[in-house]
Amino acid sequence: MKRVVTTGELTQLAMRPAGLLDAYLAHAEADIARFELLTAGVNRDCPACGGSGAPAFERLGFSYKRCTTCGSLYVSPLPDPRRLAQYHADGAAERFRREQVLPSTAEVRARHAVGPRAHWVLAAAAARLGTGLTFAQFGEESPSLLELLSTSVSVVQWPDDTASPDVRIDCALAFDVLERSADFAQALHCCRLALDVRGLLFVTTVSGEGFEIRMLGSRTAALVPPVHLQLLSRAGWQAALAREGFALVEYSTPGELDVQAVAEICRRDPGVVLPPILDELVRHDDEQVGRVFQELLQQACLSSHVQLVAEAS
Ligand SMILES: [Zn+2]
Repeated sequence: MKRVVTTGELTQLAMRPAGLLDAYLAHAEADIARFELLTAGVNRDCPACGGSGAPAFERLGFSYKRCTTCGSLYVSPLPDPRRLAQYHADGAAERFRREQVLPSTAEVRARHAVGPRAHWVLAAAAARLGTGLTFAQFGEESPSLLELLSTSVSVVQWPDDTASPDVRIDCALAFDVLERSADFAQALHCCRLALDVRGLLFVTTVSGEGFEIRMLGSRTAALVPPVHLQLLSRAGWQAALAREGFALVEYSTPGELDVQAVAEICRRDPGVVLPPILDELVRHDDEQVGRVFQELLQQACLSSHVQLVAEAS
């Protein structure tokens, strides 16, 4: 199976500016209280495979469980979907993300996320499906990404009625969206219905078994429970995709930030104690050691940022 490894120069500070991230989290905490997301939640089993979960940790008052079958991480109880929708539509945190965080990181995301993603989907789609393809993005559209893609392929709006779409699409892009869906199974089903047979689903998301979250758990700075409702493992993805008749054809974790993120929290929080040899690797005086360790995590598919391709049957 195809696996992508990158060696970039992305820094934690550029992608996740500390002051902005702290302010965003403060808004998220206020919105969680304002929209009462911690009450009237519903207990659930693993959204990936249906297995049962064991308590993993708590963050911002939410309980994360780890599936004892597939290793996926998920919020349970799941907040009320209507309150979650209000959080996303009317909350100060999401407004702050759109108006402050995204503009101030636009340049670095263009270089390290939007550009590479466009290149990735175009190359993979052309290799498997040829030319004359139609793409659509599921969830919040990224205008800069779609503009890049539209120079090579036809880009259409996501079909309103996925149960009986006028035209099925060749490639569905679900970037940073499936982890936040209150009904993960339904969201994946929508993606399948929109696609033609042999169509491709491209997903980017956060791994539930990546190094950062495995080491830091509740202290993972970028983890925001109303946004990150399910972080699947590789086995979780295989189970969920198989249920919808998808075959996994690429699974990579080309994340560049795990080692820097873990080192940063170790510096800020003396309560984080890593096994000594891991502590030595992530905080080594020679920066090259950290870079090589990050590359090893990518090779082993254990970085926190996942990209995958699934083919519809
Ligand atoms: Zn599971």
